[in-house]
Amino acid sequence: KVKAEIIAVGTELLLGQIANTNAQWLSQQLAQYGVNIYNHVVVGDNLRRVEETFRQAHLRSDIILVTGGLGPTEDDLTREAFQALSNLSMVEHKPSMDKIQAYFHKQDVEMTPNNRKQARVFETADVWKNSVGMAPGMMVTFEGRKWIFLPGVPREMKSLAIEHVFPTIQQMVSQHEIIKSVVLKFIGIGESKLEHELRDMIQAQTNPTIAPLAQDDGIVIRLTANGESEQQVDELLDKTKSKILNLVGHYFYGVNQATLEGEIVELLRKDSKQLATAESLTGGLFSGKLSSVPGVSDVFRGGIVSYNNEVKQNVLGVPPQVIEEYGAISKECALAMAKNAATKLNASIGIGFTGVAGPSETEGKPVGTVYIAIYDQAGHTIREKCQFQGDRNTIRRRTVQKGLELLYN
Ligand code: ATP
Ligand code: MG
Repeated sequence: KVKAEIIAVGTELLLGQIANTNAQWLSQQLAQYGVNIYNHVVVGDNLRRVEETFRQAHLRSDIILVTGGLGPTEDDLTREAFQALSNLSMVEHKPSMDKIQAYFHKQDVEMTPNNRKQARVFETADVWKNSVGMAPGMMVTFEGRKWIFLPGVPREMKSLAIEHVFPTIQQMVSQHEIIKSVVLKFIGIGESKLEHELRDMIQAQTNPTIAPLAQDDGIVIRLTANGESEQQVDELLDKTKSKILNLVGHYFYGVNQATLEGEIVELLRKDSKQLATAESLTGGLFSGKLSSVPGVSDVFRGGIVSYNNEVKQNVLGVPPQVIEEYGAISKECALAMAKNAATKLNASIGIGFTGVAGPSETEGKPVGTVYIAIYDQAGHTIREKCQFQGDRNTIRRRTVQKGLELLYN
């Protein structure tokens, strides 16, 4: 198993002025390739300490990724520290030097000599052009270890990683083994509950690795397995997937590229049902999400954005008594909206959204109060009261997500 570590160079990191997002991002990405990261190290801009950190890494890791300290200034010491450790000679990388000179020429400022430093590379290195900045990235093989040097600026680091580091690492790793990932998608369960349910599995994980991740629209679990043959890897993934679904299958809706809206469209089509929407606070967001699914036209009839109460009554046909008696922000109104959307638009199912997106309360109901109702011609109804946190758009987004979850269940 390949052992990797990430060293972030920079005193700002030690002082807590910035967070080590480079290591976070690299680790997340590398997990997909089945590379195990054993250490994250942060070291300040001090030659002796950087060298000492490099020495330790060299003893224990197969791949060492270093970010930062490749710039032109005094305190950028990554090159110097690695040279002190390795005694490898450095040369000027002509394409990088040309680029730096062209940059200064274009800005019409004189290049100070220290900028030459950014074009210095180890003679035996694979040099990777930095398409968003000055200092190139590079990989040096030294005593069997792969040393990868990347700039500290996250944008530059990511660009080089995606273009060069990951393909290189993937190749290194896949020379010996096959690696495959599958992403399982869940809704209606929080990250901590899911982790709790799967605690024993997660603790015992080796192959596949199990990585849960909270996203805006639910929780995903990435399984990554490695083995000697495609078949072996598929079996490992299938076995673990079944075990997980035994525990939390209730919340599962799809794999890899699956979307909740896509699954809903699929279900409606299977049941030969059509949907109509009536939206107040979401102003059409829900319909927009649904209609992003290709081929939705045979299951989505249309929607009415009834933002104003007059429109709720006159266009959608919500009875005035409902609004008088319960208010427009009520489960009664949501249900009347759902029912009238279904009837008016000749659909088998209607869904209605009403609520307070903010910034201030309405009808004495606090910001984030949302009612969602589903009306089904067969006579089933769902009425859900939600209390969301967040700003206006967050509340609207969560409303759409909740509507999808209710429809799916
Ligand atoms: P430059 O050529 O800009 O000097 P560099 O390779 O020398 O790049 P640093 O000087 O160490 O890199 O860092 C440049 C900037 O990138 C820092 O000011 C910081 O904002 C950001 N940065 C550096 N390291 C990290 C890190 N580990 N995580 C997040 N951001 C970082
Ligand atoms: Mg710098």
